[in-house]
Amino acid sequence: MTESKTDVAALAPPVLILLGPPGAGKGTQARMLQQRYGLVQLSTGDLLRSAVAEGSEAGKAADKVMKSGGLVSDDIVIAILRDRLAEPDTTKGVILDGFPRTTVQAEALDDLLAESGQQIDAAISLEVDDEAMVHRIAGRYSCGECGEGYHDSFKQPKVEGVCDVCGATNMKRRADDNAETVAERLSAYHRQTAPLITYYEKRGALQRIDAMGPIDEIATTVSRAVSKAAKD
Ligand code: AMP
Repeated sequence: MTESKTDVAALAPPVLILLGPPGAGKGTQARMLQQRYGLVQLSTGDLLRSAVAEGSEAGKAADKVMKSGGLVSDDIVIAILRDRLAEPDTTKGVILDGFPRTTVQAEALDDLLAESGQQIDAAISLEVDDEAMVHRIAGRYSCGECGEGYHDSFKQPKVEGVCDVCGATNMKRRADDNAETVAERLSAYHRQTAPLITYYEKRGALQRIDAMGPIDEIATTVSRAVSKAAKD
């Protein structure tokens, strides 16, 4: 990567959105940006999975929908994001991973940010083929401790079953990463989320990135886009 941490850190804390279908690499790229720039990754999928694990009312309502591959209701997701955005670490700048996924959520995000005098700096669209997505999702797993992502074909740990980052041995696969649910998740993306590409393009906030190549090459391009957005 060519952009330095200070490029972004020295400027106002950015608010970035990663758009793209399931399997496009949003989580992987968000984690890399978090490590590189000290920004905070906000994944509504992770927040919802925590709510499900805690057994909260929102979690119970979300569980069924997530298993089917559909989208959880805007009200639930917006409330969860609102609470998370109110935590103090988000003043370092945030990368939204998996939010917004509908126009209603995008408008709610604008309102939430406006309350603290902020706005979106960039919406980065990770562009990929649907066919490749099914293969990517089917082979992925992550460390149950630190969340580092791995893949049966593209990124295996140096020692099988042992996380390169934290040494934990409890790798896990997501319950919704199966062929049936993936098809529904892709369809929900095209129906409800893809229109956001035009939404942000019209506002001049969209940056498109070809996300079919190796992770590190995509990370370099994403990093450049972030640096540009922070300076604009
Ligand atoms: P993800 O981890 O981003 O792939 O999300 C996993 C699942 O959580 C999705 O298939 C949805 O059911 C749900 N989900 C995550 N984020 C949202 C969102 N912004 N709006 C609605 N549902 C969401």
